[in-house]
Amino acid sequence: MPVKSKLGQNFLVDTHAVERIVAALGELSGRTVAEIGPGKGAITDALASRAAQVIAIELDRELAAGLRKKFAPDRVTVVEQDVLGFDFATAAMQAGRKLAVAGNLPYYITSPILLKLAASHAALDAAVVMVQREVADRVTAAAGSRDYGALSVTVQMYGPVERLFTLPPSAFSPPPEVHSTVFRWRFAPRFAELGVEEEGFLRFVRQAFAQKRKTAANNLRAAGVAPAEAAQVMSHAGIDARARAEELPLEALAALWRQLAAFGAGRPE
Ligand code: SAM
Repeated sequence: MPVKSKLGQNFLVDTHAVERIVAALGELSGRTVAEIGPGKGAITDALASRAAQVIAIELDRELAAGLRKKFAPDRVTVVEQDVLGFDFATAAMQAGRKLAVAGNLPYYITSPILLKLAASHAALDAAVVMVQREVADRVTAAAGSRDYGALSVTVQMYGPVERLFTLPPSAFSPPPEVHSTVFRWRFAPRFAELGVEEEGFLRFVRQAFAQKRKTAANNLRAAGVAPAEAAQVMSHAGIDARARAEELPLEALAALWRQLAAFGAGRPE
């Protein structure tokens, strides 16, 4: 069967890595696991031997057919579709509890998949996923680091992330051009605790990081907040006027947003 590189098909051949991914999900007995991009079933096999049920979401028709042949349908439900359209909420309802998520992601749609998981957070408790190392650097970055940006804040607002381990290209067949890193994401959204409204705050975060080299105040001005108001909002939030967004942890960004919301009219749309 030809490998479809446009579908991000790099199959994991490191069996130790498979065990580590599955172990990172913790106790799986009685659980339902949604696996994103199961491919030929390298991770699926290990999941199926521990979980009550695996929902294997695979876009490639031939791979999906191969999985149906390989696994008993009562253990592994193969869903042939684009994961971006998968209804995690209904699957969790049918399972009777939140889903665990696993996957060696197709790298060409990593960010959309992470955003999809974030949007589906109410149906999920934890995800252990493999992404390109540079993406894991951004997702797990703390304030002050070069890699900290809108993706870090967006993902971390839905719960803590932990970098687990990195694999070289030789762990896959065919080998990709990049290193890969596995991280764990426990879904526990922070919007209520930080007093921010989800959609408006994430829009604000994208604006605040729009130009990383600019100060946060300058980015606010560029987003339409009057200069005097931007300065006042920063000072009310207890943030140095010269701070750049990449220096501000989630709590400080939330304080800024709350101040902007209190100012009302100046809030960027
Ligand atoms: N899990 C397998 C492994 O580790 O060996 C395969 C991982 S491979 C990096 C990514 C898999 O995602 C491929 O099987 C590919 O066909 C599948 N895929 C690509 N785009 C997809 C999409 N939009 N929805 C679901 N699966 C997709």
